[in-house]
Formats: sequence, C-alpha cells, structure tokens
Amino acid sequence: MEKHVLSKSTFIRGLQCFKSLYLYKNYYHLKDPVSPELQAVFNRGHKVGALAQQLFPGGIDCTPTKRYRYIESVEKTQELINNGQEVIYEATFQVERVLIMLDILVKRGGKWFAYEVKSSTKISDTYITDAAIQYYVITNAGLKLEDISIVHIDNQYILKEKLKLDQYFKTISVKDRILEIQPRLHKQVNEMKSVIFERDIPIKEIGKHCFSPYQCDYLGYCWKGKKDAEIFTLAGLGKEGQVDLFEKGIEKFSDISSVEKLSKSQKIQIKGEPVLKKDNIQKFLMQLEFPLWFLDFETVQNAVPKYEGVKPYQQIPFQFSLHRLEENGTLSHSEFLAELGIDPRESFTKSLFEMVGKKGSVVVYNATFEKMIIKQLFEWFPDKKEEAQHMIKRVIDLMKPFQKKDYYLPEMQGSHSIKAVLPALCKELSYENLAINNGQIAAMTYNELQTSSDMFRIEEVKQNLLEYCKLDTLAMVKIYEKLIEITQNR
Ligand code: SF4
Repeated sequence: MEKHVLSKSTFIRGLQCFKSLYLYKNYYHLKDPVSPELQAVFNRGHKVGALAQQLFPGGIDCTPTKRYRYIESVEKTQELINNGQEVIYEATFQVERVLIMLDILVKRGGKWFAYEVKSSTKISDTYITDAAIQYYVITNAGLKLEDISIVHIDNQYILKEKLKLDQYFKTISVKDRILEIQPRLHKQVNEMKSVIFERDIPIKEIGKHCFSPYQCDYLGYCWKGKKDAEIFTLAGLGKEGQVDLFEKGIEKFSDISSVEKLSKSQKIQIKGEPVLKKDNIQKFLMQLEFPLWFLDFETVQNAVPKYEGVKPYQQIPFQFSLHRLEENGTLSHSEFLAELGIDPRESFTKSLFEMVGKKGSVVVYNATFEKMIIKQLFEWFPDKKEEAQHMIKRVIDLMKPFQKKDYYLPEMQGSHSIKAVLPALCKELSYENLAINNGQIAAMTYNELQTSSDMFRIEEVKQNLLEYCKLDTLAMVKIYEKLIEITQNR
C-alpha cells in the first residue's frame, strides 16, 4: 500500500484553500505556530474523544504505535474486522491514497455503524463534510456502513452526581446529508492530489476564505505586510466585515468613499479625533455611591462538567479581585482564589458576599458578564438569592462611557474593551509584562494547576493569577480616576 497523500484534515484544508493544502504538504515549516489557546482546543477534543469511547466499551484502539505508521493501523483495522472484533477505536482506512481514522466503528446485528466524535455542542457544515470523506473512504475500502453519526456534546445536559455519558453526548445520524455530498468527492480528491504535486505554489488571493471555516495557519506567510492594514482596526465589523472591505481594495480609512453605512462609533473612529462629552460622563459618575467596589471575576469553562448542577462549557467562577475606594480616596485591595482540587463555587460565593460590603456601587467592566455570573451563583445557592439580587442592582458598568463614545481617544482604535482603553488612558499600567495577560490564559492555567503536584510551580502560577486579576480592578480604579480628572478640567 502506498503512503497516503491526503487525510481527513488535509482534505478539509484543501476545500478551504488549495494554496493552504499545498503549503502544508510542501512548506510545513512556514506554518504559524500553534497558540496555547488552540492547543487547548486540540487537547479538549482528545479528552472528549476518549470519553466517547466509553459509550461503546470493549473496543480495540488502532492508533499507530509510532508516529506516521498509518499503514500498520490500516492493516490492524482490517485484521480486527476479519477476526470479528465488534468495537474498534481509531479505525483506519485508506483508499485512493486518502487516509481516514474514524473515532469509533461498531458492529451491531451484523451491520457496521460509524461514529465521529466532536467536542462542540452543534453540528457544523464542516463536520458534515468531514463525515462525508470518512464515509467515502470506508465504503470504497469495501466496508458497507449501515449508518454514520456525529457524537457531540449536549449543551443542555446538567451534571447530577455522576456523569451520564448517554445524556452528556447526543448522537445524530448524518447519513442522509453526507450521501448528497458523495458524488463530488472523487473529483475533489483528485484535484487536491494534483495540486499537492504541482511545481509551484498555487496562486490564490487572500480573502474571507482565510478565516472560514477555520483561521488558516499560513496567515503569517500570505498576509505578510497586509495584516496591519488600517482597515483591520475598524471596530464593530468583525473579521468578515473587515476582510470584505479589504477585498474591495479598501486598506486605509481614507479609501472609504462613503461613510453613510457606518455606525456612529465607526464614524468617530475614522474621523480619528478625540471625543469628550463631559456632561454625559458627569451624569454617569453621579450614579456612583461610595464606597466603590471595583470587582472582576475570572472563570473557567469545561467541556466535561466537573461539578453537580453544571452544564458543559458553563462559566465557573474561581477567582475575583476587589478594590475598595472610599470617598476620601483611601484605596484597599482584597482578593480570592479558590483552593485547588475542589469545587470553587461555594467558597467563591461565600467570600464574594463577605468581602463586598452591603453599601456602595459595585463597579465592573462589561456588566453583562459579571451579572450573569452573580445570577448563576444564586441558581446554585438559592439561599444567596436576595444578596445576589441586591448586588446585581448595585452593579455599574464602567465600560458604558467608552461604549457610548462619551469619551474617546484615537489610541483606543475604535474599541471600548479595557485592553484598549487602559493603555490609552493610563500608560503606566500595562498587561504586557504579566505572565498571564488575558482571561483565556488565566482559565487554562487554572485548569492545568488542578493536576500539578509541583508546589513551586503551583505557587508561582497562583501569584501570576492574582497579579493578573488585581491589575484588572486596579485598571478600573485608574480609569475611574481619569474620568473624574477630565470632568474636573476646564
Ligand atoms: S492564508 Fe489564505 S490564501 Fe494563504 S493559504 Fe491560507 S487560506 Fe490560502
């Protein structure tokens, strides 16, 4: 058997962009590095995949014993089928030099059923194509499939005592949808194979396809010098909208011929001049009641819920930082970080209601998130409902003056996120030198710590988490002080 040239993932890559396929096969080293965030998504996929195997226990795994020994896996799969094995994990097939590894292959009542596992909560068109190429290879390799299904996470599942896999996972047959795709696969496979062996890099302009269905990992190569075009800073459009304008030849704001269709804040950004509506800011500040409680939460989301009453991917708070500012200017700080290895919700809730006083405004940045977490707390702990509702009523969103563009500086680049507002207002404070500098990394690091036994590492990371969260609330204090300052200046 000849070595494969296409796999399920390279086929999907080729459908997104021939050039990406060519580069991947011939210039792998030009690929962008995998970010820790993306690596975490891959790891999650493997974990969920392993869990789904338990839906069909007793299987034999055909994962190659050594990297790249896929032919061994194909032979092992065939041998297991011939020997009457009824459950096979990573069942491997190859046809027309296309190799696929199916998550779970099951024989029931003398018929074969294929299952592909996804760690997401819904079925995308790409998953259908992905299942289609698997069906194509398996059936053309000579195994008749009675059905092919996608096994994905049910986001309505709530953990009670023990994880019930048959409720946590949803199994949906996609055979009807993938059969429609089958007639075009042979041609597509051949086209891709010929692209791979071309002498030169295929010509393909950059565009929206670079981000859909996945962000291509050759952006660094193809978008060199283009990624920094001014149009990619135009806020409120999303990547797709920005690329849409870029494809029309609009690279700079000055290339935009008509601003009529743009939002109020986009027009402000394009104009590039500061905005200061003192009266509105004063009105905003007047709502605040001392003492001020600057509050920020960190949360973690797990594909597989760990604690009772929790849904897949539900936000679980594990840390907060709190700065208290008195009317006389006295500032104090307190914080909470859950102990490792336990359900953080109870101690988080207890500490939050103990540490945040009963009077004064609770100042957050992007209130939707913090309010949602506080609401969840009383759903988990109904005895805290009154306190939680009282706290929600006291929440004031410090983001509002920036979101409404009552205060805008061109350095904010159209954004009202704290990561854009802070450096524009308080250059002395920065996230740049922190070991943890965004919420996603904080959540990943906290998750990683759960299984660590290295006490030095644990202490170091705990400090990093505390420093990061503390900066979030200190940043809010500084932003608040800046708002006071500018409204007092004549
Ligand atoms: S960056 Fe865009 S054009 Fe370049 S390989 Fe990727 S998808 Fe293709």
